[in-house]
Amino acid sequence: MRILLTNDDGIDAPGLAALADAVRPHADVLIVAPATEQSAVGHAITIHDPLKVSERYHGSELFGYAVHGTPADCVKLALCSLMSQHPDLIISGINNGANLGTDIIYSGTVSAATEGTLLGIPSFAISINSFDRRAHFETAARAARHLLTLVPHPHMPAGTLLNVNVPDLPWDQLKGWKLTVQGRTKYVENYERRTDPRGNAYYWIAGTLVETDENPDADYRAVKNGFVSLTPLHFDVTNYDYFAAARTRLETSLNPPDEAARG
Ligand code: MN
Repeated sequence: MRILLTNDDGIDAPGLAALADAVRPHADVLIVAPATEQSAVGHAITIHDPLKVSERYHGSELFGYAVHGTPADCVKLALCSLMSQHPDLIISGINNGANLGTDIIYSGTVSAATEGTLLGIPSFAISINSFDRRAHFETAARAARHLLTLVPHPHMPAGTLLNVNVPDLPWDQLKGWKLTVQGRTKYVENYERRTDPRGNAYYWIAGTLVETDENPDADYRAVKNGFVSLTPLHFDVTNYDYFAAARTRLETSLNPPDEAARG
């Protein structure tokens, strides 16, 4: 099995090292990750600048390739240029911080896995519910290893990825696994206004998470209750209910049957 690993916390992040340690005994692993932290860059790609790539060594061992770009850049570049053969699986993570609810939109971690599925490779993103650099990465790494044999899953439709979120707990304190849906999280947005040493104002995002979703299947609820959350995602963002409900009415009013009525 060939596996491509990437992340958005950067190639030196502890979560990526833990993930690499966990999957290397079971697969042929290549790491292509951003040279610097790219959290919350979403699905951005670099189009106006060259993508510099450098080898990164741990001691005398090649750890992986550091790309001066985004997570989506890393996946594209790996598949188009750096890998002689396509991988069987792409794993993005282990992100330092959960990717739940609406956070998914901004997540570079999830976007790398989305890019993988857009390019036809089974992919999952994995995050731990803690911003502490000493989080229980070994728990999330063990969860990733369990998923190696389940993703690619024969029944998983093309273009679908798994978004995995792991509670920050020792392995034996996990309650189990839950298949979940994207929760409808909401933030109270707030920008703190500060002043720099030269007297100029600057702003720093300081939103507070408010949970508004009572759905028992919501992703953040599973993680809060001690379960590993698995959310199947896909990138078709069409609102099919509205499409079906509004198609006839909107098309009829926008396309008058009588040519003269078009004015
Ligand atoms: Mn991150």
